[in-house]
Amino acid sequence: MLNGKTAIVTGSTSGIGLGIAEAFARAGANIVLNGFGDATEIERTRTDLSKRTNAMVVYSPADMSRPKAIEQMVRQTVDTFGTVDIMVNNAGIQHVAPIDEFPEEKWDAIMAINLSSAFHATKLVLPMMRRKGWGRVINVASAHALVASPYKAAYVAAKHGVLGLTKVTALETAEDGITCNAICPGYVRTPLVERQIDDQAKAHGIDREKVISDVLLKNQPNKRFVEVAELAALALFLCTDNGASVTGAALPMDGGWTAH
Ligand code: NAD
Repeated sequence: MLNGKTAIVTGSTSGIGLGIAEAFARAGANIVLNGFGDATEIERTRTDLSKRTNAMVVYSPADMSRPKAIEQMVRQTVDTFGTVDIMVNNAGIQHVAPIDEFPEEKWDAIMAINLSSAFHATKLVLPMMRRKGWGRVINVASAHALVASPYKAAYVAAKHGVLGLTKVTALETAEDGITCNAICPGYVRTPLVERQIDDQAKAHGIDREKVISDVLLKNQPNKRFVEVAELAALALFLCTDNGASVTGAALPMDGGWTAH
């Protein structure tokens, strides 16, 4: 389905990004993995993914908070595979604190990684997509691109920003065979959320199971976590010909959360 196509998936050393990379690799795409972690572990992830799917998989250590590093990642991709057909802006971090105690450096880091990196990457890949008359930009936003929760000022602001960027990108590329959409997951049980479970358990003085039922899944009406594979299947659909008319959309996959 994606034979001959090349996809960069930022933040794909774990969680949702790795799931999307796996789905794209199985569909035949060349993959650029990106993200942080233990070097040996990342190399194992890269080779395992390549062996399991027969896809060409390379790794970029680019730090998404640094525009120059994003440029290097795109250059490495072009040097290796010739172009970028699919750009998945997925890297993201979280910090939970009331606004009046929110550390400025956390605000800046969340804006840089969760929002500005998508702008820098999109800016770099659009000319290549336009030349081919085909491209897909997928921004992994969040239910928090549509609704807010307390104590997540930077994350909610950045994700609302990602949705704005998504719409502008879609409008500017609508006649070029390119689509740009935002996937808006509810809670998914990835390392990002595991850390929140620990933090909230400490903050509220309750156990992890209670955090899951009373805090995280309180607003998720189907009372279960979204699966990484479900999100990966949605991302893959957006890359098919049947997804060609879906652009500028916020696509919630949140068990009904944002229907409230
Ligand atoms: P995760 O912590 O499992 O993965 C985050 C990835 O981003 C990792 O690969 C990490 O190394 C990478 N990363 C972090 N900082 C980076 C940087 N500066 N440069 C490059 N890579 C960096 O988290 P996840 O849950 O898979 O989150 C992926 C995306 O999905 C994020 O944008 C997150 O906001 C979004 N999201 C997650 C959930 C959820 O419930 N897990 C819900 C909605 C949206």
